[in-house]
Amino acid sequence: MDLRKQFGSLIANDEISLQVEAGEIHGIIGPNGSGKSTFFNTVTGFYDADGGSVYFDGTDITDASPDEIARRGLGRTFQIASPFRDLSVRENLLSVYTAGLRSGLRITEGKRERAQEIIERLEIEHIADHEASDISGGQQQLLELGRILMLDPQCIMLDEPTAGVNPALQNRILDHLRELNEEGQTFVIIEHDMSVISGLTDRVTVFDQGKVVMDGDFETVTSDERVREAYLGAE
Ligand code: ATP
Ligand code: MG
Repeated sequence: MDLRKQFGSLIANDEISLQVEAGEIHGIIGPNGSGKSTFFNTVTGFYDADGGSVYFDGTDITDASPDEIARRGLGRTFQIASPFRDLSVRENLLSVYTAGLRSGLRITEGKRERAQEIIERLEIEHIADHEASDISGGQQQLLELGRILMLDPQCIMLDEPTAGVNPALQNRILDHLRELNEEGQTFVIIEHDMSVISGLTDRVTVFDQGKVVMDGDFETVTSDERVREAYLGAE
């Protein structure tokens, strides 16, 4: 609510109010530098807000740490995937328990089984034991999604999960998101390209220069003339 974040004199998030309903796929679009990633970083505790508040499932998490927020069930990925490059894909999945998040917890058989389930679900068996440095950018995005799924979050925030990914893998990622959503998973997805999220999102919020300039169901937002001009090219 009314979330505000400044870097010096630059107002990156100017009183952003945005509500995500359980079970929806909520898209966030907007030009470069409009404050989309900053919004994720502030909501998930990586940046301290300069004003406003964040509620998750009825609890005020404005001042909570990233770890605490993840533990409460709000997971997120970063715009630039950063797996542990010298660990395998499988070890990267398990590392959510040993590095940073939930540190100190032992890796039990149950967690190994969960990792295997996610590997099968995301269809990455063939690269499960490859080092993360050897997999493609798109596969790294799948791995990022897998790492978040390991924590069974209620809501997952994805920062451009298909950026720079080839079209075939892009479609696969989107199919996985759709399928997870059908099973009840809530998503908030930042995306540059409206056509990518067409048919995926229930609601879309448009950011511009740190502000929300439009918010509504996908059809309404995409039929708006200004939005069409900015994101769908002149028609
Ligand atoms: P893109 O689509 O390119 O990812 P974005 O909408 O995610 O853009 P942000 O990364 O949120 O945009 O950046 C919003 C503004 O805040 C930009 O002007 C950016 O330079 C600035 N900014 C973001 N993070 C920082 C930071 N840690 N320190 C200083 N300025 C920052
Ligand atoms: Mg960004």
